[in-house]
Amino acid sequence: MIESVQAPSIVPLEHILPDEPLLMMGAGPVPIPQRVAAANSIVINHLGETMNRVIGQVKDLGRYVFQTRSSHVLGVSGPGSAAMEMAVANLVTPGSRVLCICNGYFSSRLAELVRRVRGEPTLLEFGNNESADPERVEKELQRGNYDVVTMVQGETSNTVCNKNLEHIAKLAKRYGCLTIVDAVCTLSTMPLEMDRWQVDAIITGGQKGLSSIPGVSLLAFSEEAWERKIAHRAELPFHWCLDAGLADKFWNQKSYHYTAPVSGILALHEALRLVCEETLPKRFYRHERCSNALQAGIEAMGLRLLVKKEHRLNSVVGLVVPEQVSADMVRAHMSQAHKVEISGAFGLNILRIGQMGEQSRAHNLFRTLHALGSSMRFAGAELDLPAGMAELERVLSST
Ligand SMILES: *Cc1c(COP(=O)(O)O)cnc(C)c1O
Repeated sequence: MIESVQAPSIVPLEHILPDEPLLMMGAGPVPIPQRVAAANSIVINHLGETMNRVIGQVKDLGRYVFQTRSSHVLGVSGPGSAAMEMAVANLVTPGSRVLCICNGYFSSRLAELVRRVRGEPTLLEFGNNESADPERVEKELQRGNYDVVTMVQGETSNTVCNKNLEHIAKLAKRYGCLTIVDAVCTLSTMPLEMDRWQVDAIITGGQKGLSSIPGVSLLAFSEEAWERKIAHRAELPFHWCLDAGLADKFWNQKSYHYTAPVSGILALHEALRLVCEETLPKRFYRHERCSNALQAGIEAMGLRLLVKKEHRLNSVVGLVVPEQVSADMVRAHMSQAHKVEISGAFGLNILRIGQMGEQSRAHNLFRTLHALGSSMRFAGAELDLPAGMAELERVLSST
């Protein structure tokens, strides 16, 4: 043949990747346990007895982590956003009236997904880094005759937590709505009880609270949502890959929809199994203790957290960058000198430190807080690094 396109000259991966992997302490992806990494290196047949057993266990583990008895736990090959799109595409039909509770970037993305499937979103916005207020939500529910409510549990973008999620989900049910909750960041880091709180769809991704790989996500529909919107629908949804009725073939009927991302599902199996082994109450406690200690350490150093305690997310901690300091310089120095990576933000002058899954370990906190303080100083901030480290130690050892 004639090579009309020449082979490019390419450097090996090891020349691109850092010599020492960075400690991933940003807003995701997060470090994965060795068991998850090992599972992710295996390829098996996507159909057959072995895969059926794996899928059976992933669903059982998923039910535990979502706290549901629903038979509609499904995986999706794609990012957390694909799971968001799958929930929306199957529960929102053209003309559906959807109340989108917005307090940041990801909750607004849900509204955009509603628009794309020709639903009619009404945005109920909460500003100033505040969680959604159930009274305002109820007023809007009384007024608007809605079919569906969407919201996030944790707004990773600005580190706001919707602490009244249970209250709002139950309200929505009283007004006849189905509720879609994005728990990509928060699942398995803080309480969320799908059945008891009457949530109709929960979405999660792999690479955050669950400490699995990005690109394979999980969601669950309630029995009611399935009956009302999926089992007897008049029109097929717009998306073939995200059609829950078709996904059900693979996830519940041992047959073919599309070739499942087998390695990623094996990784997810291990991540979920580790959650189950740890148990949810212990895992929630670990996250709360670590995040509180980190927050206390940051404040004791002389830095300010963006969100007030009563609205604050624990799964991702947002700190305000002092005025004369460049956030980019802090992050670059943390990566280069300390091999620790944290996140900037979408348009806000904050830095974000993740407390999801493997990030919430005492040894990672010490390394991260030290790297932050030392790099802040390098970038010109005046702060008391030893006081921060001492406070981190004090809170961790007192709880
Ligand atoms: C990260 C995140 C998403 C998007 O997940 P992707 O895997 O990037 O698509 C959605 N919602 C929340 C709350 C998130 O934290």
